[in-house]
Amino acid sequence: MQRNNLPKIKILATGGTIAGSAEAADKLTGYTAGTMGVESLIGAVPQLADVAEVSGEQLANIDSCDITGDLWFKLAARCNELMADANVDGIVITHGTDTLEETAYFLNLTVKGDKPIVLTGAMRPATAISADGPLDLLNAVKTAACPDARGQGVLVVMNDIIMAARYATKTSAFKVEAFQAQPYGQLGTIAGGRVYFEAQVKQRHTVQSAFAGKNYTALPRVDIIYTHCDDDGVFVEAALKAGAQGIVYAGSGMGSIHKGAEQALINAAAQGVAVVRSTRVSEGRVLPANPKWDAAGFISGGNLNPQKARILLQLALTETKDPAKLQQIFDEY
Ligand code: ASP
Repeated sequence: MQRNNLPKIKILATGGTIAGSAEAADKLTGYTAGTMGVESLIGAVPQLADVAEVSGEQLANIDSCDITGDLWFKLAARCNELMADANVDGIVITHGTDTLEETAYFLNLTVKGDKPIVLTGAMRPATAISADGPLDLLNAVKTAACPDARGQGVLVVMNDIIMAARYATKTSAFKVEAFQAQPYGQLGTIAGGRVYFEAQVKQRHTVQSAFAGKNYTALPRVDIIYTHCDDDGVFVEAALKAGAQGIVYAGSGMGSIHKGAEQALINAAAQGVAVVRSTRVSEGRVLPANPKWDAAGFISGGNLNPQKARILLQLALTETKDPAKLQQIFDEY
């Protein structure tokens, strides 16, 4: 390909380990995330120039464990602008891995456009022996530059795998193979330097999302409550006191609710607070189990993990409080 015909890819940097540095190359923990700027990330991968015409913008430089709704709103607004910019063919977002899946899913629902958006990060700081960031960045840019990535929704590229934001989730706290999107969300691979797309997800996203292009600046409070032995509903009451308009209950098994917390959740729903049953189990889905829960108007979170169910519920609550309509949204997204 002629260099001046290369796709134009915008890299939006937000921090994370991919931009992290430590005082020694063998220090793989206890480093500082989000210390290097986007130009250093680009400069570390000269091969990018063979794949795309890249330009960078620094939107933040944080450890993504500190992610905020305000940064999501800023990213979504910038991505929405870039969708209309004829000088941009695709977007790569560098991000810490801790909450990368949440930012990816938020953008999957709120950006209107079919240009590729690819999030990537790294498990080892940029200063590490065998740092994984440079190859992840190159793979992410190749994916964003690939015509097959158009219209696939927001993507996550880590460790040679292309995943749908709807399903990608962090499953290891320290391995380079930190993300999985099984069983449904692995869309392709980068192998032998080439991008291969093999699958698509069916849930609504980007151009088909009712939440896309709206440029939110605030969202209703939704809390996640994680069940455990002796769960007594005290956090349900705390959430209501804090002004929650929705609760995602990370139940056990198929979304089961501890009898100690059940009445508090029924009372919350009776007061008009949306209650979504989710599960703390990483694979499977929430299934109907108790007619009492349906009668209370609890919503099934399907196979969305609790942190993504929270995002969908925040957005859905901007449109409706009706449990039947909320359930329809959860069935479609
Ligand atoms: N704590 C880091 C972050 O999420 C971890 C990483 O990027 O791998 O920003």
